[in-house]
Amino acid sequence: TYVVTDACIKCKYMDCVEVCPVDCFYEGENMLVINPNECIDCGVCEPECPAEAILPDTENGLEKWLELNAQYSAEWPNI
Ligand code: SF4
Repeated sequence: TYVVTDACIKCKYMDCVEVCPVDCFYEGENMLVINPNECIDCGVCEPECPAEAILPDTENGLEKWLELNAQYSAEWPNI
């Protein structure tokens, strides 16, 4: 899955949302998040993010963000 990280906080450009083929972006408290169960790992959103906030979960040190993406996408509305 891909994961949205801290560079997204208070940004909320919606470019990533528009390109996602499976609509798996959700609105979190201060940022957008990706539902890890719905993301198909296509990678289309990564270069669309002007803040470079979207990373593949194969990068190191993303545990906290993976948790937040999973949590917010379960609790907040799909966008
Ligand atoms: Fe959507 Fe593809 Fe990005 Fe996953 S990697 S959030 S499926 S655009």
